[in-house]
Amino acid sequence: MKAKISEIFKSIQGEGLYQGLEQVFVRFYGCSLSCKFCDTKLSGYREYSVKDLTQALNSFTNFHSISLTGGEPLEQVFFLKEFLESYRKGAKKIYLETNGILFDNLKRIVGHLDIISMDFKLSSSTGIKAFWHEHREFIKIAASKDFFIKAVIGHSTLVNDIRIALSIIKESGSHATLVLQPENPFEHELAAKLNYFYKICQEYSVRVKIISQLHKVIGVK
Ligand code: SF4
Repeated sequence: MKAKISEIFKSIQGEGLYQGLEQVFVRFYGCSLSCKFCDTKLSGYREYSVKDLTQALNSFTNFHSISLTGGEPLEQVFFLKEFLESYRKGAKKIYLETNGILFDNLKRIVGHLDIISMDFKLSSSTGIKAFWHEHREFIKIAASKDFFIKAVIGHSTLVNDIRIALSIIKESGSHATLVLQPENPFEHELAAKLNYFYKICQEYSVRVKIISQLHKVIGVK
């Protein structure tokens, strides 16, 4: 089996709770969503077998973990399963970055993952439909792992979407941190909104952090 992979590179994780750590990024090609803020519209890919990918990863040294990112890596879950079953033996930590929708696919590989970074796709932020049911199911499965949730906050983000997301996190019993990520790290006008949402998260007793995208600020990939 082969996977469509756009690029493999080492850089600094710019988002979420592992921000600032060096990772090797495996960017899987393709995502069936179309979030309006998407900054990973990929134009090409190369096909990798499990052996090709393992060899590519073995050429990197001194990093914290391997980030499976995209696109949406869970859309190529059968390759991932085969790869992870082979690669796990004594290798680095595996970090999954995902849109948090394909919960059935998550079930197939969750046992091989160490860290899960899930996006909560708020319709008022993404400009596409909501995925409340999918996110609810995803959180239930991911909760057994080192797991956090990110929500992109832009000018269009509605407080009602935040409240629904918080209810879902709360009902799940998960203690995952919710990261409020400004859509644009240079957009200082979002500060008041972020502070307002932060206080609402506290009302729901959900752990919350506001974290900007570091890679955009320091100008790395
Ligand atoms: S889920 Fe991620 S990769 Fe897919 S369109 Fe949205 S931002 Fe882009």
